[in-house]
Amino acid sequence: MDRQTCDVLVVGAGAAGLAAAVTAAHYGASVILAEKAPVIGGTSAWSGGWIWVPCTAVAHRHGIVEDISEPRRYLSAVLGNGFDADRVDAFLAAAPEMVDFFETRTALRFDCGARIPDTYGDLPGAGTGGRSVIAQPFDGRALGADIALLRRPLPETAFLGMTIQAGPDLRAFLTATRSVSSALYVAQRLGRHLWDLARHGRGMQLRNGNALVARLLKSARDAGVDIRPSHPVQRLTRDADGVTGAVLQGPSGPVEIAARRGVILAAGGYPQDAARKSASFPHPGHHRTLAVPEATGDGLALAEAVGGGQATDLAAPAAFCPVSEVVWPDGRKGTFPHIIDRGKPGVIGVLADGRRFCNEGLGYHDYVRDMLRALPEGAEPMSWLVCDHRFLRRYGLGIVRPAPVPVGPWIKSGYLKTGATPRALATACGIDPDGLRETLETFNTFARRGEDPAFHRGTTPYMRLQGDPDITPNPCLAPIETAPFYAVRLVPGSFGTFAGLRTDCLARVLDHAGQPVAGLYAAGADMASVMGGHYPAGGINLGPALTFGFVAGRHAAGGAA
Ligand SMILES: Cc1cc2nc3c(=O)[nH]c(=O)nc-3n(C[C@H](O)[C@H](O)[C@H](O)COP(=O)(O)OP(=O)(O)OC[C@H]3O[C@@H](n4cnc5c(N)ncnc54)[C@H](O)[C@@H]3O)c2cc1C
Repeated sequence: MDRQTCDVLVVGAGAAGLAAAVTAAHYGASVILAEKAPVIGGTSAWSGGWIWVPCTAVAHRHGIVEDISEPRRYLSAVLGNGFDADRVDAFLAAAPEMVDFFETRTALRFDCGARIPDTYGDLPGAGTGGRSVIAQPFDGRALGADIALLRRPLPETAFLGMTIQAGPDLRAFLTATRSVSSALYVAQRLGRHLWDLARHGRGMQLRNGNALVARLLKSARDAGVDIRPSHPVQRLTRDADGVTGAVLQGPSGPVEIAARRGVILAAGGYPQDAARKSASFPHPGHHRTLAVPEATGDGLALAEAVGGGQATDLAAPAAFCPVSEVVWPDGRKGTFPHIIDRGKPGVIGVLADGRRFCNEGLGYHDYVRDMLRALPEGAEPMSWLVCDHRFLRRYGLGIVRPAPVPVGPWIKSGYLKTGATPRALATACGIDPDGLRETLETFNTFARRGEDPAFHRGTTPYMRLQGDPDITPNPCLAPIETAPFYAVRLVPGSFGTFAGLRTDCLARVLDHAGQPVAGLYAAGADMASVMGGHYPAGGINLGPALTFGFVAGRHAAGGAA
């Protein structure tokens, strides 16, 4: 077997692995980054790219200065028994350092989510903006030949392969038929995109998770990281003192890597591991994850073989998101995450009895949790998002885009159900028609007044941001009354898993006695979520992934304790 040596071996090239590799290299380590897929980026490259990291210099630049005790108070309120003070404090302390490090020493630059509030605005310490950042858009041409290594965006969330960023970018697309400046902006974006497609065979105006990964990939190259796509790590090696390295499967056979300073696991958790999901997920057979197929729990299995332990006490095993199942015209199947449409005015979620069960405009995680709680015993886990024609053409629903993009193909494929009346729609979906009629009557009566006494939509800054500022008196509420009516079927899905390996404040993997396994770290979804299985804000996956990747890389390289 071929034998090679480095200081730090990183397993998996998503956000966490890239962050760890770049950091370790900057702190003087020789780094090998082993990636199972032929492309770089993992689920991170498909993500919205929002990164929850309070109290950073990026927020300060926008005039948002708050004491770290405020986000801490908020996390304490949301996480309850899952609040692990040591790890939360380690995260909150290191997050601003991580942001400074990447902005000053690498190709990563951030924009501020200055107006993005935390999800539960009624809890103490909830932020109203400035706690999240996103990688600035990136011109893919700056990657040179490495652009071929970048995982392409998820087709379901892109438009003709182009990533659209939540915020002003998305708003321009949603208002392009009603505003001249939006139409001009969209024409310019589309024109450039079509040119890139013709010239490079892919979009080059990178945004969201694709921009984050591209910037990290560029930073890894600049820092001299030895990046090895198509090199799955198969097992760890160890001696009496701890982990010593790993065996990778290369295209021409196995390679044994001796890692003098440590191995960092960042293989993306277990959303694609059927056995682990059966053991920990509610309704595993009905669950549709959005994560990349390579996320099969390898990091957990590698760690368990040397004494590491998985956390099993989280409030939820995964970061839930309601999804719909898409069949593209060419027969390809996909999964669409309902992140944005649920919060717009004029849509409701109902179960098969036609009744609402939650505040549709709260978080995606909450929607799935509430749906599973509300299901009658033995019922299939699913719900319907119901809207009218006005809503569909203004905002789109799931994969169905707003006007002027045609809706016909989605009706034909069966993805979008429709009916001239609520009763006809209910019959097409198999929803109880009387239940849906009653629900709509009640909902519409209150929605016209901007009220939602049942679930209180529009009562926090988070909900209002998801709404439509042009709708009054409540940006989250409008009656559903303009025929024809439409519905899309939602099932439980996830962005990835929360229930990773137990680690300490330095991201070191812990054994069953709570002691660090020497030489072994975990970050990203391979690490048990510091949020305890809760979802306090958008970006709570990537924030800790980058931060603990940074912490692990720095510690493994010997840069700082
Ligand atoms: C549509 C969508 C939107 C999202 N939006 C957000 C958002 O805005 N903010 C947020 O915080 N989170 C978001 N998420 C969740 C977030 O993307 C993930 O939690 C995060 O990317 C996980 O990062 P990671 O580095 O742990 O794993 P990944 O990015 O999945 O990387 C893991 C890598 O490890 C590789 N690998 C696996 N096994 C091996 C092995 N044996 N050897 C070597 N390599 C291996 C995989 O191929 C993969 O490339 C979103 C997810 C989706 C799907």
